[in-house]
Amino acid sequence: MMAQGDTLGLLYLHSNSQATITPPQKRLAEAISKQIAISLANLKLRETLQYQSFRDPLTGLFNRRYLDASMDRELHRVMREDKSLGIIMLDVDHFKQFNDTFGHDAGDVVLQSIGRFLQDNVRQSDIACRFGGEEFTIILPHASLENALERAEQLRLGVKNLHIQYGNQPLGLITVSLGVAAFPHHGENPKDLLQNADSALYKAKEQGRDRVISANLI
Ligand code: GH3
Ligand code: MG
Ligand code: MG
Repeated sequence: MMAQGDTLGLLYLHSNSQATITPPQKRLAEAISKQIAISLANLKLRETLQYQSFRDPLTGLFNRRYLDASMDRELHRVMREDKSLGIIMLDVDHFKQFNDTFGHDAGDVVLQSIGRFLQDNVRQSDIACRFGGEEFTIILPHASLENALERAEQLRLGVKNLHIQYGNQPLGLITVSLGVAAFPHHGENPKDLLQNADSALYKAKEQGRDRVISANLI
């Protein structure tokens, strides 16, 4: 079965009786297989487009659009369940300087490595996103503020230990700053929670980077 230049599958025709398959039966089978092939190709295309619409192409993490949709969905869920939810905002330290020293392509490799690291080090129910540029957001449903702070500290140390290479060139130490907020302590809607995590991140930068800061209790 072929459609749009792709081989999509095989349709196997078998006759149980002694009689061979007649030419009209063959033609019918061909017509059916063509229709199935077109449908399969359309499904595949839809899947690809759907994937692209919520993934960041560089890191493969979820994108901002997916983050916004997930925040609404997950927050509603934890509210119904009377549970908490943690938010971690992570930003690479002095990344502009890094690009200036090693080049933009090396910078991209760093973002990809951090993306892979985050994906490998969050739980299946957690949602790791590229917020934009060199900034990442992780949603941790059911995590308390203490849990989220602990996880943020683990991520900080993990990124520091990545030892990323660009070709054969070691890229030196990469550090990140992280801001943490949690529902219900720091807000009851996505906007407030993200803003509070972002303010905490800003404080982490101010206080010297390479650290985790919690949002203020309100
Ligand atoms: P700070 O520690 O305060 O966060 O400093 P910074 O240099 O990381 O922050 P700043 O916002 O000044 O610079 C962010 C840099 O991230 C600038 C931009 O070129 C780089 N950047 C953003 N997106 C990409 C990307 O997709 N690839 C690469 N290589 N660099 C990117
Ligand atoms: Mg930065
Ligand atoms: Mg930034």
